[in-house]
Amino acid sequence: MKTLLPTSTAGSLPKPSWLAEPEKLWSPWKLENQALIEGKQDALRVALQEQKKAGIDIVSDGEQTRQHFVTTFIEHLEGVDFEKRKTVKIRDRYDVSVPSVVGTVSRPNAIFVNDAKFLRAQTDKPIKWALPGPMTMVDTLYDDHYKSRKDLAWEFAKILNQEAKELESAGVDIIQFDEPAFNVFFDEVNSWGIACLEKAIEGLKCETVVHICYGYGIKANTDWKESLGSEWRQYEEVFPNLQHSNIDIISLECHNSSVPIELLELVRGKKIMVGAIDVASNTIETPEEVAATLRKALKYVDADKLYPSTNCGMAPLSREVARGKLNALQAGAEIVRKELTT
Ligand SMILES: [Zn+2]
Repeated sequence: MKTLLPTSTAGSLPKPSWLAEPEKLWSPWKLENQALIEGKQDALRVALQEQKKAGIDIVSDGEQTRQHFVTTFIEHLEGVDFEKRKTVKIRDRYDVSVPSVVGTVSRPNAIFVNDAKFLRAQTDKPIKWALPGPMTMVDTLYDDHYKSRKDLAWEFAKILNQEAKELESAGVDIIQFDEPAFNVFFDEVNSWGIACLEKAIEGLKCETVVHICYGYGIKANTDWKESLGSEWRQYEEVFPNLQHSNIDIISLECHNSSVPIELLELVRGKKIMVGAIDVASNTIETPEEVAATLRKALKYVDADKLYPSTNCGMAPLSREVARGKLNALQAGAEIVRKELTT
């Protein structure tokens, strides 16, 4: 990557209202069959155009072809019964009705590979593709078969590895694994979570990211954040082992958060996607606010390893707010680029 401070988003962007009801997670599709396939592709084109217009350097599909960052992937697997639902507490935080694992899990067909090929055909810019992480997948299901979070995560890691290798062949430059569960289950992260992630990236030549955030700006998450006190030290628990892992890039929530920025010292040497945009607020950051967050991170991250980004996905925001935030991200990065090169 030649660009200094290349910008990207953590993942999702709002969907157009003709595809799904906006500002909502798990929003149902408004189209069906062939119209839905074409509608998703058109939405992907729009999401790409929004990123290009804002000058974003590493672009994505804005997750336009999926309803949810975890469940859409799981829907394509065998061994999971979506009719057999159980209510479980996910992320140790809120009750959700989830599908059950009822047998050996497997991936009969590629899941996002055609979508990634479609994105690849639309742009020459580097592209990043997000997948759920194995631990977060386990934490979004009821397991009636393996009866072991670790064993199930290991099976998911093998499946994710198959998908990741095909995404790489389709021309994806960076593959990201979303692991919000890494901010909650520290003992499991250290005993098997990171090992499963390394299994998921085994043999890949493209760059890899783990995205660890404090979640979308939904009430269960903002309430949780309020309970965490004045200093959020969750990252401290998993950083030492992540620093020694094979993952290339770590994507973190840094703006408007109470994460002590000096924790970044614990992952010195890794590339860091610094979240400089708050996705839980409709207030659009000023470029100067973005620059201030990046300058703080630069004390602990070498300039050639710093990737300005968003705290998390922007799916629940309005399109206008998301557009403003993309522009602010790019403008803030530009301020700091000038400081670094003059
Ligand atoms: Zn996130």
